[in-house]
Amino acid sequence: MKPDVRKRAGRSFHVERRPAQASPIPDSSWERAVDLIRHADEVALACHVTPDGDALGSMLAVAFTLRRMGKRVVASFGDRHFAVPRLLRFLPGQDMLVPPAEFPAAPDLMIVFDASTFQRLGLLCPNAASAREVVVVDHHPSNEGFGTLGLIDAAAAATAMLAEQLVYRLGGRLDRDIATCLYAGLVTDTGSFRHSSTTPAVHQMAARLVETGLRTDEIARELWDRSPFGYLKVLAAALERVRLEDGIVWTYVTRVDRAAYGLPYAELEGVIDVIRRTDEAEIAVVLKEDDAGDWQVSTRSKGGVDVGRVCAALGGGGHHNAAGHTSHDNVAETMEKFLRELRKGS
Ligand code: 5GP
Ligand code: MN
Repeated sequence: MKPDVRKRAGRSFHVERRPAQASPIPDSSWERAVDLIRHADEVALACHVTPDGDALGSMLAVAFTLRRMGKRVVASFGDRHFAVPRLLRFLPGQDMLVPPAEFPAAPDLMIVFDASTFQRLGLLCPNAASAREVVVVDHHPSNEGFGTLGLIDAAAAATAMLAEQLVYRLGGRLDRDIATCLYAGLVTDTGSFRHSSTTPAVHQMAARLVETGLRTDEIARELWDRSPFGYLKVLAAALERVRLEDGIVWTYVTRVDRAAYGLPYAELEGVIDVIRRTDEAEIAVVLKEDDAGDWQVSTRSKGGVDVGRVCAALGGGGHHNAAGHTSHDNVAETMEKFLRELRKGS
């Protein structure tokens, strides 16, 4: 294919034209989703429990678009303690959020974002089970295929990429609010454009978003460069007990660790990013005890091992290099089961 040579500011640069990757989502599925939305007066949106930037950002971006189309919109996620994680409170559109108890019991049309399994809807599972139509917008390879219509592309770096498509297909336009939500999703799931999922299409989308005038510096600071003082103390405790065993670097954080500093569970997201840098380890694991006393297990791979498979086998899910699951066992048993499942793949 002939490279596209462009002139700009007197310098020429080559753009290797890659063949556009065919989306696995057929046009007919997009058209059906648009049709369902056009015919709905009210649309109920949900994302996975303990939402991250991609889940909440994708949902709110579409919520803005629907509201501008004159639809009644409710948006929620099924956490028992319903609260937007502190680091996502800067996202606009939170007035559209309702706690799960106020979510329609049997919505005509429900749209679900970034949830690879039905269970990830938490308290909203019964609502989804009673909904007439459930459109699932997701990019997890482990997506189990629930719902009445799937808009699922495992090659997309973030659900936000699919949410952007949906905005356009609904005739919506990017403004700074929508772009801020989508950008939060894109940078969260690409690790600030560092992960292998960062394709030209990711940067092209980022360019469209940044052109709306959003503040990338402020978003980055909100997402990654601030935390309460107690985080440092809890991180220190986690690092104090970190272990390196058979190429796996791992640690855990208890409720008691957090209680000493009043640190909410959601503040623990960054712990895995500190330990996964370890040269001697191929895999990183952090066990985080949530407020209910269950262990939320975060795992990361450098590429040689599919932790998504391992976590899916343990009842969770995720991606090849970033996945998680929930464990009701103690720390030692949780690690044992993880290792046993890991070895099955080798
Ligand atoms: P994190 O470790 O950042 O919480 O999650 C990493 C990836 O694994 C994300 O894509 C997330 O959606 C997925 N993941 C984390 N925990 C679970 C879980 O309990 N169930 C499922 N299905 N996926 C999870
Ligand atoms: Mn995601």
